[in-house]
Amino acid sequence: MSTEPDGSMISGARGIEDGQENPAPATTGLAGSTTRAAADPESWCHRCGGPNRSWHVPSPLWNAVMRGGSINGEEEYSGIVCPTCFMVLAEERGVGEAWRLDARVVHVELELTTPSGRVWDAEADLWREPA
Ligand SMILES: [Zn+2]
Repeated sequence: MSTEPDGSMISGARGIEDGQENPAPATTGLAGSTTRAAADPESWCHRCGGPNRSWHVPSPLWNAVMRGGSINGEEEYSGIVCPTCFMVLAEERGVGEAWRLDARVVHVELELTTPSGRVWDAEADLWREPA
């Protein structure tokens, strides 16, 4: 994960295969890799050891949770944690709660109108009656 204090963080795009619980050290399924240690270090959470995916939060929120609240603070867990660990840490430290998950890349066409005609308002994060 790139963790420049003033930039966005994006963790590794590759992940350990679905269905593996806490696979350390195990086969990752990545060509040429036979152990977690040999795999992309961003493909596993350095707090819980579970699989990690490509994700990010706004940098100021990351810094508040992972750098002890300081933009220049030392980053914990090598700066690589899974979303669940990030949420747990943020809640334990009183930084934030009530999470929202979204995808920047969606590979299918999403249904944005309900059978009754209500339309998804992405900005409000609600279904709305048509105008
Ligand atoms: Zn984790």
